[in-house]
Amino acid sequence: MFGALVGDLIGSVHEFAGTKRKDFSPLIHPAARFTDDSVLTCAVAEALLAGERAEAIARRFKRWGNRYPRCGFSAQFREWLWSSSLLPFGSFGNGAAMRVSPAALLARTADEALALAQATAEVTHDHPEGIRGAQAAALATFLALRGEPAQVIRRTVAEQSGYDLSRSVDEIRPAYRFDGTCQGSVPQALVCALEALDFEDAIRNAISLGGDADTLAAIAGAVAEARFGIPQQVARQVEAMMPADMREVMSDLYARAGRALPWAQGNMGTATFDPR
Ligand SMILES: [Mg+2]
Repeated sequence: MFGALVGDLIGSVHEFAGTKRKDFSPLIHPAARFTDDSVLTCAVAEALLAGERAEAIARRFKRWGNRYPRCGFSAQFREWLWSSSLLPFGSFGNGAAMRVSPAALLARTADEALALAQATAEVTHDHPEGIRGAQAAALATFLALRGEPAQVIRRTVAEQSGYDLSRSVDEIRPAYRFDGTCQGSVPQALVCALEALDFEDAIRNAISLGGDADTLAAIAGAVAEARFGIPQQVARQVEAMMPADMREVMSDLYARAGRALPWAQGNMGTATFDPR
């Protein structure tokens, strides 16, 4: 969902910079761009809205991937993208988790969130760690959307996934290095969102780890959006940078989920006001 896109865009300029501080400025750098995290989140949203599974989702990834071929895909993913294969390639990269948030928004139960997460992951990331990463991110987001407090989310996701979510951001940061695997980035990103005091704090936490910044911030951003919402000014600024096809998918997704678009929430009061 949109929090993942915001995190991806803000994190894009920090991906290989090793940023180890929270007070970087500006929050949204002029050179910030959407990357693969956003493109594939939109692909997942479109696929789930259409009720697709398996190879239909793979085709959807290929369609979006070929529309935005140079937006930061891994070498392994690009090879698959440009091949004729619709089969998974055993990946446990964090791509499975960065793109999964629409599953949390559309699921009606925690079990459905886990099942949808698995369905979107195993199309490419059919390694158990790939599926685990997607499910943990989706479950955290789903529980946050239900208004569960951070400590409940932490405990429930740790039990379901087996991830260690007990460390703090300050404890993780010093020794943390770029790690594109699920097991080396999803638990850290979840801690960034669960420890945060607001949406921006979650994004700053994620980037301050000095790792795969856009993906850490995308995963944390989805959970943080579910916990806190997105500040209007940030949402509007990022929305203005979004290509039309992404905006359209996001609009469809939020409409299906019965939720207001993050960048249009200021208008909700008047739009839904009943004068009787
Ligand atoms: Mg990326």
